Amino acid sequence: QAQAERTLSAVPTGLLIAGVWTESNEGSTIHIENPATGQRLARVCDAKAADGIRALDAAASAQARWAETSPSQRSDFLRRAHNRLLQDIEAFAALITLEMGKSLTEARAEVKYAADFLRWFSEEASRIQGRYQRAPSGGLHHLISHRPVGPALLITPWNFPLAMIARKVGPALAAGCTMVVKPSELTPLTALFFAEAMRDLGLPNGVLNVITTSNAPGVVEPLIADPRLRKLSFTGSTRVGKILLAHAAQSVLRCSMELGGNAPFIVFEDADMDRVIDGALFAKMRNIGQACTAANRFFVHESRAEEFGRRIASAVDALPIGNGMTETAVTGPLITGTARRNMQDLVQSAVVGGARLLAGGEVVPGPGNYFRPVVLADPPADAAVLHTEIFGPILPICTFRTEAEVIDRANDTPYGLAAYAFTEDLSRGHRLAARIEAGMLGLNTGQISDPAAPFGGVKHSGIGREGSVEGVMEYLNIQYAGLAIS
Ligand code: ADP
Repeated sequence: QAQAERTLSAVPTGLLIAGVWTESNEGSTIHIENPATGQRLARVCDAKAADGIRALDAAASAQARWAETSPSQRSDFLRRAHNRLLQDIEAFAALITLEMGKSLTEARAEVKYAADFLRWFSEEASRIQGRYQRAPSGGLHHLISHRPVGPALLITPWNFPLAMIARKVGPALAAGCTMVVKPSELTPLTALFFAEAMRDLGLPNGVLNVITTSNAPGVVEPLIADPRLRKLSFTGSTRVGKILLAHAAQSVLRCSMELGGNAPFIVFEDADMDRVIDGALFAKMRNIGQACTAANRFFVHESRAEEFGRRIASAVDALPIGNGMTETAVTGPLITGTARRNMQDLVQSAVVGGARLLAGGEVVPGPGNYFRPVVLADPPADAAVLHTEIFGPILPICTFRTEAEVIDRANDTPYGLAAYAFTEDLSRGHRLAARIEAGMLGLNTGQISDPAAPFGGVKHSGIGREGSVEGVMEYLNIQYAGLAIS
């Protein structure tokens, strides 16, 4: 508690523009609430369109000098940023839990995950390599190199308040881009604390600017229309992603979009059930189900469905629910009251349609947006719970008979982010990898995110990749020079 109070009082509440914490000219603020208690944690600045433009002014003025820094300088900075996150792990974790609700254990894991992105991109910063070749015709020589795309707008969601920032800021810095960061208005405190840490570490003024606002469209749209902005990286819903892509079309802006998912979780007849249960708990219950990679639809072979339902229901029932700040809680509150009502509606309509409730369903009394995780067996094929991104701890179980059938059903969605499958048959694993329409496949694991692996989706789940060697390419333009050598 004392740690939490100290950390909260150390969080800047203004806008970081050109290395200076400033207020909006209009002086309005946004209240940040603790989803576990409904209590107010802080007030932060509510930026208007003109503030966004000031932040872009700063990023645009800093761009040329930042691009000229040596790869080693950028690498060294990122390495120090990595160290700083780990040094301040308790403060970052407390902020994440306070504003977002996940347990402290998960919040600490998020800080490590975020720090790992900074380490990864500190390593990648010095490995941005071009090519040199002689044209096959024997005429020109080709020099192929990479240049930073330019000032970037980074828009992040509330579910991973630190990791989503690190995953975008890391490669932008490594590539030599300056940036305006717009965190979610529900969880800006972690982002502000992170920005202050970067400023304190000596990041040159204007390289990283942060704006918080309750009017995301009003601030973001003028930025996207501004010709100085050269890159948009967005993580959030498919609905908002489509709106932003439409605006970005007018500026032919480079876009990286990490959007929603509807991940299938397939359990074949030969699966190792201990691994399945571990994988299901991780893929479904981590972050209280609020992850774009969360398993959404469980397809279990009919010969194992009863066993899976029984075991997962008792595992889910045993998850301690409570305020994430208490060390014992596993399942914290959902982000908002609306999110909780959405969960209740999804469960109710599935049950009305004939689904059986294997676990959960009781209302949790008291303040906070708590929702006891639910396991549903046999929801009807048209149940909303199978067709929308649940973004909460509801686990619907369907059964299947054949591999071909389950692959078709798994792919029968506009989304294609993550997929999970459990089988002891290696050939089947390879067939799935070839046929599943998803950017990421977990085989016999529920855990796929890793800074060294390319994260991203196909279909309506997005464009581009984050992390890995591909992540930094999203912030680079390719330039080719044809050299006449005589
Ligand atoms: P989520 O449901 O995960 O919050 P959203 O897509 O609503 O996903 O939000 C993700 C991010 O996009 C947040 O930072 C939010 O403020 C921002 N955002 C939401 N709507 C818009 C919009 N119309 N234009 C620009 N940014 C938006």
